Amino acid sequence: MLNKLINMLKDLFGRKFPYIRMSITDVCNFKCGYCLPNGYQVDKSDKRKFLHLDEIKRLAKCFSELGVCKIRITGGEPTVRKDFFEIIKILKIESGIKKVVITTNGYHLDKKAKLLVDSGLNGINISIDSLDQEIFKNVTGHDRLQEILQGIKNLQDLGFENIKINAVLLKGINSSKKDFDKWSDFIRNNKIDLRYIELMQTGDNLEYFKKYHESSMIFKKYLNENNWIYQTLGKDAGPSKNYINPEYKGKFGIIAPYSKDFCKTCNRLRITSRGDLRLCLFGNTGISVRHLLQKDNQLNELKDLILKQMQFKKESHYLELGETGSTKNLSKTGG
Ligand code: SAM
Ligand code: SF4
Repeated sequence: MLNKLINMLKDLFGRKFPYIRMSITDVCNFKCGYCLPNGYQVDKSDKRKFLHLDEIKRLAKCFSELGVCKIRITGGEPTVRKDFFEIIKILKIESGIKKVVITTNGYHLDKKAKLLVDSGLNGINISIDSLDQEIFKNVTGHDRLQEILQGIKNLQDLGFENIKINAVLLKGINSSKKDFDKWSDFIRNNKIDLRYIELMQTGDNLEYFKKYHESSMIFKKYLNENNWIYQTLGKDAGPSKNYINPEYKGKFGIIAPYSKDFCKTCNRLRITSRGDLRLCLFGNTGISVRHLLQKDNQLNELKDLILKQMQFKKESHYLELGETGSTKNLSKTGG
């Protein structure tokens, strides 16, 4: 067995991996133009079922023993799973993982807020591409902005603090000063981080990408012109470059995957909903670990397999070269 000292997730470029993004389903109930414009379609080429509760628990326990302290549950839309709350509770109570967080589209968030808080969840990222009801509806195919905003309010009323919002930056859709000002008003008195993510090219969305990709420089310029101050990255910082302003309770952030050095601070690995370990959001590196999730006594073998895979993690996603690998859309790998 591998010595405990080297029993930590590290790659050949000196990066450490205390963070896992775990997709628990590919299914989604929204139709975001950049992700699933025609809604979720069953992948007939992949007959494997989504990871079940016991498999998820074993995997999380394994990662915890490999030094992982945070797991983000994602999808597809993770909350569509009937056992979603059970998954959160089991991870919180039985896996040894300290922080369990989710990324969600906020479907029925108004009704689910209390259950989420009661589940022991440590943080929530909600995707809202626009505060304009019509734009939101056009991008996602769902007129649900109000229920999501009400859900955020309900979370806040229950004292839940770690709330972030992600918006994909889309040229001519949500990238004007008016759009930025709306978010600015929103976070003035809301202790919420709003992060614009640059649209990424995937196997399925080339036309959409060409039409709507906008450099995050446009938002950076807005921040500079409006007295937002760049907050230098902490030791365990994620991919978001954050900006603060003393007059605001919330922060702004930029996630720019095409920027130089984006991959240098990579601190995460991914698990797909069918139990493939993915070393990067993009590219083809990764293998199935599912055969080692079947019994509790496979734990050491599973740890060894995952540790050995770390040597295959590449230095960069090479996205700027148009290399999207096997990633058809981000509902498959959880964004
Ligand atoms: N359904 C959930 C949601 O939308 O929050 C979780 C999964 S979704 C794939 C995770 C994140 O990826 C969302 O914030 C979404 O906006 C983002 N995303 C999806 N496709 C993207 C793309 N092509 N470029 C940039 N971000 C994308
Ligand atoms: Fe669904 Fe999230 Fe993809 Fe939108 S971004 S279609 S909500 S998985």
